[in-house]
Amino acid sequence: MRIDIITIFPDYFTTAFNYSIVKKAIDKNIVNINIHNLRDFTKNKQKSIDDYPYGGGAGMVMNIEPIFNCITKLKKEREYDEIIYLTPDGETLNQSTSNSLSLKENIILLCGHYKGIDHRVREELITKEISIGDYVLTGGEMPATILSDSIIRLIPGVISDETSALTDSFQDNLLSPPIYTRPENFNGWKVPEILLSGNSKEIIKWREKKSIERTKKIRPDLLD
Ligand code: SAM
Repeated sequence: MRIDIITIFPDYFTTAFNYSIVKKAIDKNIVNINIHNLRDFTKNKQKSIDDYPYGGGAGMVMNIEPIFNCITKLKKEREYDEIIYLTPDGETLNQSTSNSLSLKENIILLCGHYKGIDHRVREELITKEISIGDYVLTGGEMPATILSDSIIRLIPGVISDETSALTDSFQDNLLSPPIYTRPENFNGWKVPEILLSGNSKEIIKWREKKSIERTKKIRPDLLD
């Protein structure tokens, strides 16, 4: 999979993908992440990429031209499955969206700033808009990193024990069961005995039961 990220802060990404599973996926060439500095796509001498909003009001708006130039260049080089704008008023990211994006070949992620981007970009160039939650951040770099991470860990071959990603919360609309490791007894706080029994059938049943119980208690909406 190839991910192209368009940003005015390319340096933000110098270490963002340098860790853990995502780094391994990059090292194994399963995913290829390319960062594009939006300022390289403006003809403006000052390299400015924003301007005052028509009609007045607070904040600056990112210009259409550099975004158009960057996306057009990328689209000439290959076909994209999705051109995604990270925005608080997009569809809220969930596991099902990450699952389906993990099957794509090429995607573009556009990071906004200031008041956001000229609306014509959204109408004419963007194919999908994703929010990472009902709150407003300063820019789209963190949302793009979060979206990329959630997608990359689901690409087949990235996590060696694939069932590990498949048994995470939200796959099957359930939260994960509780997990424990050594020691069995810490300060009198004991691990549930069933997990020490070696009876794998009963352990699976117990985990399913606990998943359902936790989901009912914490996120009943997932069971609707
Ligand atoms: N004026 C916009 C609004 O009210 O919806 C908010 C703009 S925000 C300050 C600047 C940029 O941060 C956005 O263009 C978007 O790319 C990014 N951003 C902020 N919050 C986000 C969220 N919850 N999910 C995804 N992107 C977000």
